[in-house]
Formats: sequence, structure tokens, C-alpha cells
Amino acid sequence: RRPEPCALVIFGASGDLTKRKLLPALYALAYRKLLPDRFAVVGVARTPQSSKAFTAAMKKAVKEFARDPFRQDVWDQLAAGMRYVSTDFSDDAGEDTVGRVLEELDAERGTGGNRLYYLAVPPQAFETVVQEIGERRAREVWVRLIVEKPFGHDLASARKLNELLHHWFGEDEIFRIDHYLGKETVQNMLALRFANGIFEPIWNRQFIDHVQITVAESIGIEGRAGFYESAGAIRDIFQNHLLQLLALTAMEPPIDFNADSVRNEKVKVLKSMHTPGPKSVVRGQYGAGFVEGVEVPAYREEPGVAPDSLTETYIAAKLYVDNWRWADTPFYVRAGKRLARRETTIAIQFQRAPHPPFEAIAGDGLRPNVLLIYVQPDEGVSLAIGAKVPGAGMTIRTVHMDFLYGGAFRTGLPEAYERLILDAMLGDATLFTREDEVEEQWKLVDAIVGGWQRERPSFPDYESGTWGPKSADDLIHRDGRSWRRH
Ligand code: NAP
Repeated sequence: RRPEPCALVIFGASGDLTKRKLLPALYALAYRKLLPDRFAVVGVARTPQSSKAFTAAMKKAVKEFARDPFRQDVWDQLAAGMRYVSTDFSDDAGEDTVGRVLEELDAERGTGGNRLYYLAVPPQAFETVVQEIGERRAREVWVRLIVEKPFGHDLASARKLNELLHHWFGEDEIFRIDHYLGKETVQNMLALRFANGIFEPIWNRQFIDHVQITVAESIGIEGRAGFYESAGAIRDIFQNHLLQLLALTAMEPPIDFNADSVRNEKVKVLKSMHTPGPKSVVRGQYGAGFVEGVEVPAYREEPGVAPDSLTETYIAAKLYVDNWRWADTPFYVRAGKRLARRETTIAIQFQRAPHPPFEAIAGDGLRPNVLLIYVQPDEGVSLAIGAKVPGAGMTIRTVHMDFLYGGAFRTGLPEAYERLILDAMLGDATLFTREDEVEEQWKLVDAIVGGWQRERPSFPDYESGTWGPKSADDLIHRDGRSWRRH
């Protein structure tokens, strides 16, 4: 199914996201003939430049960042409907120009008045843009809004944003991006659970000892101190990506794969989560060190970061989903920057075999089975099982049954933004977060941050290039378990 004719308007078109992700995604969609037959792109930002200069910059970005080879014919088709408007959004004249350009494109390209607005602007610009779009929206055609993270700073600001959006738009017109949901491997979690008969019967507290979810980054803050200083790991990763991964892991089977069925189940998980006590959450901040052999500075030495900053670059927590399926089963989650490696995984650790009928088990002994879902990099699924080492005796070693995307499918993995932009054009919000999900996520974050106000952490407390602070190890060791090291 190809989307209906429409124009995509990108606010924040001179920014990093547009260049690195959005245009390459549009190109990939054009390459596969997935864009509407009649389509146009309007870039909007304050930076003054002509449409010609903008198009040239986007061509360069596509050559640099797209996953497909550059094809002039594909590009020419996309570029023919590309325009740029410079405005600071707050002046009516600018909005009039955007409106006029869109009408011209409707006439020239046959885009039919349908609009997909992509808000790739910083939070300060958000309100003005929403208001301008809302005031001028036409009723007889479809209007949809893709909203980038961060969606608020806490529950109160997220609610305000939701109110602002709902003043002009219905929930079915709002597409809040959590780009993790656009990742193939994350969607594969649903396929794994609900397209196979063998996992669901054991996907519960009776058979699963615990779950570990890791979002490890090896990079630091990449010059984004302004944003990161007020966000920290809890708002940057935990509030959205980590909690979404947890919700997908823990949710009940939806009755179908439409937007509300899936999101109803996810929100139930989020509502079942209790605020962890102070001993069940730890935070950390990186000091100097070596990441993959390269010397890197401490967080407090990064440009733009306060020398006594208390912003956390690491968070780990033990969470519980208090429902019939998961009661008493811990979900250990962690996210951090400047860790040893970039890696996002979900590890489902099953209970040990109750009674190994062997007299002596050498080597690393009988370990519990683990189902590992590699979200990135090295996308795939791996099941750790105990196997007999060939030869005399009965020595057991853990081996892995692997499914790797690269080996099973002879096609490159699409970027999350390709899927998400296409879905928004099709009006399918299944992989976007709903108002109530976002608010539940913030409730948990607010409660944790509230607890943090009462104590002053002694930062930095982990070396760059390690797996985080000792307090995170203590958190899980107390339960007689340990973090997975792959
Ligand atoms: P960026 O490089 O700073 O770009 C921001 C864009 O917004 C620029 O085009 C800028 O253009 C425009 N802008 C900035 N301040 C504005 C203001 N006060 N009024 C109007 N326009 C303004 O940021 P980005 O990395 O592209 O990120 C954009 C949004 O996506 C942010 O909300 C960010 O959190 C989110 N995001 C980004 C990434 C990523 O990989 N980059 C990932 C996830 C989420 P002018 O200065 O020309 O107006």
C-alpha cells in the first residue's frame, strides 16, 4: 500500500536530524518506490538559504548518510518537489510563505492538500510551531504531526504539551516518535513472542528468573551539553527507550496489531510498575578513561558542562511489573554513556534446571538458559543452552543457537526513521507512543528524580570505557545475580 499524495513539512530542516536521518530515510523510501506518487518536501528553519542551496545540501547529506547507492533518477524525482522556507516561525509572514509554497506544490505536484508536519526543532520552538500549524490547518484534508523527543521534561510539562497539541489536533493525528520502536529488532520482539507457539507459555514468572535490558552507548554527549545537562540518562534514555523496550517485553498479547490494541497493552504494563525504592535505582557519571583504546575526558570536562555538574550519565534500576504474569520477577534495566561498548540487548534469563542428573559438571557448569535479543548492533536473537562437550565424561558448556539478520535475510535492515515516516504517511500510529503512555513514563521518572533531590551523589563514579559504577553491580549482586557481560 502506498500512502496518499501529501507534502512533508520539516520544521528544523537546517538541523542535524534532518541531514543525518530524515533525508536519508526519504531517499531510501523513494529508492524502494514507497513514497506517494505525488509528493513534496518543504524544509523550514531560521537559517536563510534558497531552495536550491537547501536541495544541494540535502543531496550531499543523502550521498553521505543514505544506506543505498546514489541514483540520480531517484534523487531527481525527490528533489523536484523540494523547497525551503526561512522563517523564525513566530512571524506571520513566514507562515504565510510556508502556506503559499504548499499551495503552489499542491497545484504543481498534485499533493492534494494533505500535510505531514515533522517537528525536528528544539523544545523552545515547539509551542510556536504547533500553534502556527494548528491555526492554519485545513479541515477537509488530513493533517498529521510527527513530534520528536524530548516530549516534555517532566509529567507537568508533558501534560502541557499534550494539552497544547490536543487544542488543535486529535490523538490520531499526533505521532510521538520513539525511534526505538521503528527498529526492526524491536518489532521482531513482537514477532518472536506472538508468531511462535513455544515462547509464550514460558514467558512469565514461573519460568523466567529475571529480565535484563541494557542500552549501552560508547559515545559521550557529542557536543550536546545544552540538552544533556538538563536531561541526563533518565530523561534521554530511561523515560522513553528503556521503558518502551520493557513494555514490549512484558505486555500481554494484543488482540491484533493495530495502534490502539498494541498501545492498550503497553500502557497496562506501564501502569503496573511501582516506583522503585531508593536502593533499587542508582545513577552514575563518567570520569575520564579509555573507550575502545581512545582516551576520553570526564563528563565534567566536556565543553559546556558545569565543572561540578550533578547530571547522571548512567542509570540502573530494578523494576517490577505488578501483575499476574510478572509479580516478583525483577526487570533490571541500565543505560549509560561512555560504557565499554555500544550495545542494546534484552536478555530473558530462565530459571535453572531444577536437578541436573550429572555427578560432576566441569567447565563453567550448568548455566541457566538465556534468550538474548540483540537490538543493536549485530541484530539477531540468540538462545544460550547447555551442551555436552564431546569426549569422555559429562562436561557441560554453554553454547548459542543464533539467528542473525544478516545471515537469514539477504536484505539490509531499514533505518527506524524509514518505517516511522512511512507509517505516519499511512496514518498508522502503532509504533508511536500515545499520550497516556508518555504520561505514565513521566510519572515513574518524576518519582525517581524526586527521590534524588534528597541526596547528593559523589560524581564522577565510573571510568569511561567500563560497564558503569560499582553501585550498579551492588544493586544486582544483592539479589545473587549479575549483569550480563557479552
Ligand atoms: P539541531 O541540529 O540543533 O537542529 C535544530 C533545528 O531547529 C535547526 O534546523 C534549527 O534551525 C531549528 N531551530 C533551532 N532553534 C530554533 C528556534 N528557537 N526557533 C526555530 N527554529 C529553531 O537539532 P537536531 O539534532 O536536528 O534535533 C532536532 C530535534 O530532534 C530535537 O528536538 C532533538 O531532541 C530531536 N532528536 C534528534 C536526534 C538526532 O539524532 N539528531 C535524535 C533524536 C531526537 P535554525 O537555527 O536554522 O532555525
